[in-house]
Amino acid sequence: MNPAIEQLVRPEIRAITAYHVPDATGLIKLDAMENPYTWPQELKMRWLEELAGIDVNRYPHPEAPALKQRLRQSMGLAEDTRLLLGNGSDELIQMLAMTVGGPGRAILSVEPGFVMYRMIALFTNSDYVGVPLRQADFGLDLEALLAAIDTHQPALIFLAYPNNPTGNLFDEEAIRRVIDAAPGIVVVDEAYAPFTDATFIPYIEAHPNLLVMRTVSKMGLAGLRLGMLMGSGEWLEQIDKTRLPYNINVLTQASAEFALRHQSVLDQQTRTIRRSREAMFSQLVAIDGITAYPSDANFILLRFAAGQAADLHAALKARGILVKSLHGAHPLLEECLRITVGTEEENRLFLRALADLTKP
Ligand SMILES: *Cc1c(COP(=O)(O)O)cnc(C)c1O
Repeated sequence: MNPAIEQLVRPEIRAITAYHVPDATGLIKLDAMENPYTWPQELKMRWLEELAGIDVNRYPHPEAPALKQRLRQSMGLAEDTRLLLGNGSDELIQMLAMTVGGPGRAILSVEPGFVMYRMIALFTNSDYVGVPLRQADFGLDLEALLAAIDTHQPALIFLAYPNNPTGNLFDEEAIRRVIDAAPGIVVVDEAYAPFTDATFIPYIEAHPNLLVMRTVSKMGLAGLRLGMLMGSGEWLEQIDKTRLPYNINVLTQASAEFALRHQSVLDQQTRTIRRSREAMFSQLVAIDGITAYPSDANFILLRFAAGQAADLHAALKARGILVKSLHGAHPLLEECLRITVGTEEENRLFLRALADLTKP
């Protein structure tokens, strides 16, 4: 290795590999929790007309007020609800960590959980604390969590609700206990809000240390990169200082605003995905030798018998279907694959391939 690289790149950065996105060319893509449906042609044409009216020689509006107003309407929030926008919720996680993290400061989450919490803790030189979920049902181990909070006094806690990659909603009362016990910020990450009725938004008012994070990615706008954070204005004001100017580009501002003006199209798609999830789940639990975990998100976690997951992942890929292998990612995920709910046709092809490959 180039000696300057060896000398200068922080050892913890040298030790990791970059976030890997597998090539999905020509494959049925059931690996990344995307909405598989596109827009009707007529809507696409109206979108393009709108984009034609945008000038890219100017910087975007730094605060994106029109888009924020749309987002508030879309989520049924009061007009004066303060929102902070990020280039995906990933950027918001980074802003949060830059605001309250750093050497000697702990960021806590549960494991298995969303990997970016741990990665960004590492990037910001914060101490990461991962508290294991219960083995049987991936529920919160409240006792262990409260003990870890007591010991590490985390500046920041992340809980995804529903959780990724397990798909379950944590017990509401247990999350409330965490919010009450936390000395710092608790972020409830509602990336999968379109696929569940559960939300912590109503708790924001009474809990100034609770921030709720959402994204338009899973509802069908993953390509735009837009996430939002809501909660106490006092906290958001501080976090906003770490935001790079103009982080939401003009095309994203205009496109997201346009899409939310036609939200019924997206809502119909996510309703279809919810129905497909239920249909898929009941078919999966009927297959011998597979454990399917109940999901409130747009994916289903599956566990196979010892020694099967890696082979199945490869065999599915050979049949043109890309899913996510979690085997090896965490001890609680041994022999696990995560399947994003696709179109009805894609799900049918997946189920047929799976039945074929697991036939005794
Ligand atoms: C997918 C996902 C995100 C990422 O959201 P972006 O807005 O696309 O950056 C955040 N949190 C969880 C739990 C996710 O699964």
